[in-house]
Amino acid sequence: MAKRDYYEVLGVSKDSTQAEIKKKYRQIAMKYHPDRNQDDKDAEEMFKEASEAYSVLGNEEKKLKYDQFGFNGLNSKGQGFSDFSFFSDSIFSDFEDILGDVFGFGSRSSSRNRQNMPRRGGDIGVETFITLEDSFHGIEKEIAVEREVSCSTCSGSGSEPGTSPETCKQCGGRGNVRRSQGFFSISSPCNACRGKGTIIVHPCDTCSGTGRERMEKNIKVNIPAGVDSGNRLRISDEGDGGYMNGRAGDLYILLNVKSDKNFRREGLDLIYDMEITFSQAALGDDISINVFHGKEKIKIPAETQSEKIMKIRNKGFKNLNGWGKGDLLIVTNVKTPTKLSKKEKELFRELKKIETAKNAGSEKKNPQSS
Ligand SMILES: [Zn+2]
Ligand SMILES: [Zn+2]
Repeated sequence: MAKRDYYEVLGVSKDSTQAEIKKKYRQIAMKYHPDRNQDDKDAEEMFKEASEAYSVLGNEEKKLKYDQFGFNGLNSKGQGFSDFSFFSDSIFSDFEDILGDVFGFGSRSSSRNRQNMPRRGGDIGVETFITLEDSFHGIEKEIAVEREVSCSTCSGSGSEPGTSPETCKQCGGRGNVRRSQGFFSISSPCNACRGKGTIIVHPCDTCSGTGRERMEKNIKVNIPAGVDSGNRLRISDEGDGGYMNGRAGDLYILLNVKSDKNFRREGLDLIYDMEITFSQAALGDDISINVFHGKEKIKIPAETQSEKIMKIRNKGFKNLNGWGKGDLLIVTNVKTPTKLSKKEKELFRELKKIETAKNAGSEKKNPQSS
């Protein structure tokens, strides 16, 4: 079945405010929530569909992507590159906030169950700096990342090895307590065990009973050729470790390309600002320059001015998201000589005489310029 448009699913328009979108989602979610529609497959589907739609439209950044690219803007879960992600996994955690106050009563997935179920670890973002040359060729880089993982001493249980947690006396191990309030029976997470149903009596020394510890790991990252500042790399399963053997989160690496003293980047083009002397500019020259890909022979034509651009095709940056390459652009900059020797001064004076005579001659030929 074709996926329905998210706006259609929630019955909102593109210019609806976040508050309106949230309100609509709540209405639908309350109507079709699985706890109110036991064993009703259709209702469950409606609930899921609305939740997915809300996970996108309820987030400004994702909504923008969806408005621009539709579903294609969202499912960039493939290997390597994605400027945008954080999609499916957060669906349920996002909704606890919204639905929590509504579905406090008799929720099927009580907080206790959730605590003891495998859960995915969080995503981590780190920033790294690379040189312009590395961004040109691509590079394998080792990045130290501090992550939160299951405690190695107690395997995440939080209890000192050899001991086990005791059943919570407050809630009898259910993780939640029920109170009758008029018409409803209201259930809320147990305060004593914070919804876990068990209490750690002998906390693990390493993690102080949290079951988690911070660990640094060196992660090898293949940075592809052609990346630019602001690109993000996603490395699956290298984020925070999962809970209760759940999947690890993802690692996002934000790339920053340092500036280079000789080269710069514009779009896919590699730019080299080349200083040339008066005589090279006037007479032309054959020179060779060191570029990232190797030596490049360049012919400076006679009578070259400053800011002349010479183009060498396909020697620029790789196009990361498609075919082709940029160009190498060499921009000339005629440099005025300094620390002139006596001999040079003599020659320039000589040159000046010739120029003056030449100008006088052209003024006669061209009287309107005087
Ligand atoms: Zn521990
Ligand atoms: Zn309890």
